[in-house]
Amino acid sequence: VSRFEGITMAPPDPILGVSEAFKADNDAKKLNLGVGAYRTEELQPYVLNVVKKYLPIEGLAAFNKVTAELLLGADNPVIKEQRIATVQGLSGTGSLRLAAALIERYFPGAKVLISSPTWGNHKNIFNDARVPWSEYRYYDPKTVGLDFEGMISDIKAAPEGSFILLHGCAHNPTGIDPTPEQWEKIADVIQEKNHIPFFDVAYQGFASGSLDEDAASVRLFAARGMELLVAQSYSKNLGLYAERIGAMNVVCSSADAAARVKSQLKRIARPMYSNPPVHGARIVANVVGDPALFDEWKAEMEMMAGRIKNVRQKLFDSLSAKDKSGKDWSFILKQIGMFSFTGLSKSQSDNMTNKWHVYMTKDGRISLAGLSLAKCEYLADAIIDSYH
Ligand code: PMP
Repeated sequence: VSRFEGITMAPPDPILGVSEAFKADNDAKKLNLGVGAYRTEELQPYVLNVVKKYLPIEGLAAFNKVTAELLLGADNPVIKEQRIATVQGLSGTGSLRLAAALIERYFPGAKVLISSPTWGNHKNIFNDARVPWSEYRYYDPKTVGLDFEGMISDIKAAPEGSFILLHGCAHNPTGIDPTPEQWEKIADVIQEKNHIPFFDVAYQGFASGSLDEDAASVRLFAARGMELLVAQSYSKNLGLYAERIGAMNVVCSSADAAARVKSQLKRIARPMYSNPPVHGARIVANVVGDPALFDEWKAEMEMMAGRIKNVRQKLFDSLSAKDKSGKDWSFILKQIGMFSFTGLSKSQSDNMTNKWHVYMTKDGRISLAGLSLAKCEYLADAIIDSYH
C-alpha cells in the first residue's frame, strides 16, 4: 500500500483547465476568454517591439556563432570548414570545467600543464575533475618578467600528448604575456611534443585594447592547423560577471571530429546543469552580431584598456620620480592587461594593507582596473614604503 494513500487528486487548475478544454474543442467559432494574455486584433500573441528590437533572431545558436567569430575572426577557414565545436558555457569557469571533464573522460591519464603562477581556480577545476596537472615555469622574480627558457624546457619535458594551458592574453596574475616571436616558439614545442594547446581567454580586449589583436595567440596556433581548446569568458570585456556567459570551443582537424566533440560536450553538460542561461548569450549575440553595436563595443573596449594604460604609466612615473633607491620600475610598463605583479612579498603586501589601507592579493598582484590617476601618487608612496 502506498505511503501517499492520503493524498487525493487535485482538481484541474481553474484557469489553465479552461485553455485545455478550449484546445480540445474543434469548432471553428471557438473563442478563448479564459486567460488574461494580451492578443492582437487577429487574436494572436503580441511580441512587443521593444522586446523584438533587443532579441536576436536565433537565440543561443547566434551566440555560438559569434563567439567563435570573435575568437578566430569571421573569415577564418576553421569556421568556414566547420572545424570548430562551440558550446555555450557558464562563463569562463564553467567552460573550463566542461573541458576538464572532456579531458578526464577521453584522455585518461593525460596531464594538464599550468603556468606557475596562474589564476588560483585553475587548480581547483582540474582537481575537481580528477585531471592530473603540474606546473611549468612562467614568472621570473629576478626580472619580474617571463622565464621563457624555463617555460619552454618544462613544456618540452612534459609527457607527450599533454594539455598545455595558456592564457590567451593578459596573463593573470602576472600581467606578463609572451611576445609574438615567443608564441611561435611555444607553438613549435607544443607541435614537436604532440601536446594539445588549451587556451583560457578571459580578458580578450583588455591587453591591447583591440579584440582582434588580443586573439592573435589563438589565431596563430589555429593558422598552423593545430587542434586546440579555448575557453572564453565575457565577465570582464562585456562586464557580464553575473550573467555567467562564456563558451568552450574545440578546434578540430575535420568537421566530422568537431561534430563528434560537440555531441560529447553537450552530453557532459546535460547532467551538470542541463542547459545554460539565455540572457547573457542574447546580449553577446546582439552586440557582436550587430555591426553598429560591435563598433561601439570596440570603442568602449579601447576606452577601458586605455584608462588602465594611463594609470599604469602614471604609476610608473610616480614610482620613478619618488623612489631614490635607483630601482628599475620599467617592469610595470612591460606588463599588460588589468594586473600588475609588483614583486611585493607577502609581508610587504601586508604592510600595504595594514599601514596604507591598500587592499591587494598576498601574491603581490594589484589590479590596475581599480586604480585612478588621482590615486597613483598615494599608491606609489605605499609601494616604496613597503619595498624598503
Ligand atoms: N580564467 C582566468 C585567467 C580568470 O582570471 C578568470 C576570472 N577571474 C576566469 C578564467 C573565469 O572567470 P568567469 O568564470 O567569471 O568567466
